Amino acid sequence: MTGIEPPPLRNDCFALPAGVEWTPVDTALDMLRDRLGPVTGVEMRLLSQALGGVLAADAVALRSSPPQANSAVDGYGFAGAVPEGAHVMPLEEGRAAAGVPFDGVLPAGRALRVLTGAALPEGVETVILEEDVTLGTGEIAFRGPLKRGANTRKAGEDVAEGAVVLPAGRRLTPADLALLASVGLGVVPLRRQLRVAVLSTGDELVEPGETAGPGQIFDANRPMLLSLIHRLGHAPVDLGRVPDDRTTLRATFDRAAAEADVILTSGGASAGDEDHVSALLRAAGAMQQWRIALKPGRPLALGLWQGKPVFGLPGNPVAALVCSLVFARPAMAVLAGESWSVPQGYDLPAGFEKRKKPGRREYLRARVRDGRVEVFASEGSGRVSGLSWAEGLVEIGDDACHIRPGDPVRFIPYGSFGL
Ligand code: AMP
Ligand code: MG
Repeated sequence: MTGIEPPPLRNDCFALPAGVEWTPVDTALDMLRDRLGPVTGVEMRLLSQALGGVLAADAVALRSSPPQANSAVDGYGFAGAVPEGAHVMPLEEGRAAAGVPFDGVLPAGRALRVLTGAALPEGVETVILEEDVTLGTGEIAFRGPLKRGANTRKAGEDVAEGAVVLPAGRRLTPADLALLASVGLGVVPLRRQLRVAVLSTGDELVEPGETAGPGQIFDANRPMLLSLIHRLGHAPVDLGRVPDDRTTLRATFDRAAAEADVILTSGGASAGDEDHVSALLRAAGAMQQWRIALKPGRPLALGLWQGKPVFGLPGNPVAALVCSLVFARPAMAVLAGESWSVPQGYDLPAGFEKRKKPGRREYLRARVRDGRVEVFASEGSGRVSGLSWAEGLVEIGDDACHIRPGDPVRFIPYGSFGL
């Protein structure tokens, strides 16, 4: 029962070194970084369609920006510098405006009306602000000193032609679109969107809005994971809920592999009787149980199903979100062609006390109030309300520690994870 065609991923891409009991978070991340690569094709897209896309190649400036020296203000231009003191200059006929150049050469000792963004005509090196000038008939009066080049922008001072403005792997922001446009790029090569299949497993799960019988709970993970994928810039593929039944799960995995580039499951990823995700992957010979030294988060089941990477997340919503943010997010980013990025955290004083044993990293649901980091009252892994209460996570290192109020702790806002 193989049928596993790994390219571009290696069949053993999730294999862990033998004999390792618990893998530190950073080691696990290094392995994902080293062994995964982009799996999506490339297409040319208009800038107007490019927001949120991932650059497939370095973007190179077709033209310098600004393309020529120009005026930074509305005012009057002339040659050279002027010393301290009062000056009067005769005004030249005509003007230079943005997009409407002055057709001629300005003689030394004369001034010309120039507007913001106007290309500096030959003979203009310096511009004086119109607010600093008294306008007479056919002449202007003002006070020096003024350095040569004052109130002007040099050609190429922002970007030089041929420079790499954005690297391959960049997910484009609105500001990036401005930059690409400013250097003449109207079309860019982007990665096709990564399709991520999401399915929930468990006999106890019911769709929210439906009637739930005794022992049943509503599927909270699927709406969370589908929207998370959307926020991260990928295309979510909803494969619904699957009962704890191996045949149905196998059929759903087959569908997922056909319709998506990555498969995210929640629940059934441990080694228990009803942990069918791990059992199925193991039976297919493509399963690795990653025991990551991380709280919250039980073992993560990683594998390939028909060549498509599967992330078997824990069922507990808190663990599912933390494992998604810490592992699935960077892994999906690499598969989507994005460059590796570490979520930006901030060291802020703790508003809580906590003791922790060595050996695993912890993430607490947290938010910042009055400059201090608060953590959710309960560390219970089933407390969905705490996920929503929180505005980020506090990362507590792998070593033992005793955090007291006022000690610096690392707060990572949800926004740093791309939420
Ligand atoms: P499991 O990993 O399947 O053993 O599930 C661990 C815990 O998470 C159990 O209490 C499950 O009922 C719960 N759980 C699993 N999947 C979901 C889900 N999609 N939404 C909410 N809770 C879930
Ligand atoms: Mg289950």
